[in-house]
Amino acid sequence: MVQQQPVHAAPTSEAELVLRIRDLHTYFYTVVGVAKALNGVNLDIPYGKVLGIVGESGCGKSVTALSAMRLVLPPGRIVKGEILLNRIRREGDTYTVLDEVNITDLDPRGHEIRSIRGREIAMIFQEPMTSLNPSYTVGNQIVEAILLHQDVSKEEARDRAINILRRVELPNAEAVVDRYPHELSGGMRQRAMIAMALSCTPSLLIADEPTTALDVTTEAEILDLMRELQAQMGMTIVFITHNLGVVAQMCDQVAVMYLGRVVESAPVDDIFYDPQHPYTQALLRSIPRIGSRTKKRLEPIRGVVPDPYADIRGCPFHDRCSACMPGICDVRVPAMSVLPGKVGHEVRCFLHSDAYEGDDGHVA
Ligand code: SF4
Repeated sequence: MVQQQPVHAAPTSEAELVLRIRDLHTYFYTVVGVAKALNGVNLDIPYGKVLGIVGESGCGKSVTALSAMRLVLPPGRIVKGEILLNRIRREGDTYTVLDEVNITDLDPRGHEIRSIRGREIAMIFQEPMTSLNPSYTVGNQIVEAILLHQDVSKEEARDRAINILRRVELPNAEAVVDRYPHELSGGMRQRAMIAMALSCTPSLLIADEPTTALDVTTEAEILDLMRELQAQMGMTIVFITHNLGVVAQMCDQVAVMYLGRVVESAPVDDIFYDPQHPYTQALLRSIPRIGSRTKKRLEPIRGVVPDPYADIRGCPFHDRCSACMPGICDVRVPAMSVLPGKVGHEVRCFLHSDAYEGDDGHVA
């Protein structure tokens, strides 16, 4: 099937989504039990937009990204669900959907997933020192990625590597291309990492906490750079972070995750000005607001994230939720439902809908 679409159109159909994740379950089989890292994640990622994934540590943000790249290592594995990638060809301001591939069907070490990694989906990790190979120069690593996916000579690949280093605003790119990662500062390494990710112009860039290891000034520079590149290239980005300030700055749409599931999904303004899930509301109450006139103390979210090995009955947030309704919330698992009168705003909570999942009240 071949369909032509404008790159910046609002998503209205499956052809306008670069990636669809459906009912994704990823478990880790350890000696102490099965850790259910993802318990039925559903996500739609539209072309040319920035989707933020937020939530506390351990909610499944990074495992979602690693599952999409088929980089989950044993004892972890995808046990259920689909990750559907639309493969596209871009021409100027339009793209053509060539075909659809279900990433969960692919051999994680096979040729097809290798051709997708880097060329169709690229990833920027939290700590560039763990992602860049310390024994190769930055240029060698970018050239290798280009040669793997594009039919160009070594000289041309090196020229492209220098160009992309200039594009991420690394000063003196002609010299940086021959430097080793340890010769660069943290901010320069992260720029080099972004250059490597962009070197094959992927349809989707996944940035997993890309600024967490940086100081605030460098963080602001990297965020500016990513926003600029996204606008110039009309790139689709999944931005994983626990920092709601970064979300407000970067994202068009936000998915809030809790214990391996999306509990609220909405346009960024709705998340900040009209959050509907008690967990999202609690997250927002726990961060400082610049310009706030009240002198209210910040409210931490009470309790801790439940043990991922535990077999939880009812809503996974019920023992931390101030709005919990005993006899309802601790008995059934709420289903995701669309909020009436809202566009693209869904929430998983019995305060908004009676819909529930499964028959036994346990998170599947
Ligand atoms: Fe709270 Fe009940 Fe909503 Fe869960 S379903 S978030 S426990 S009100």
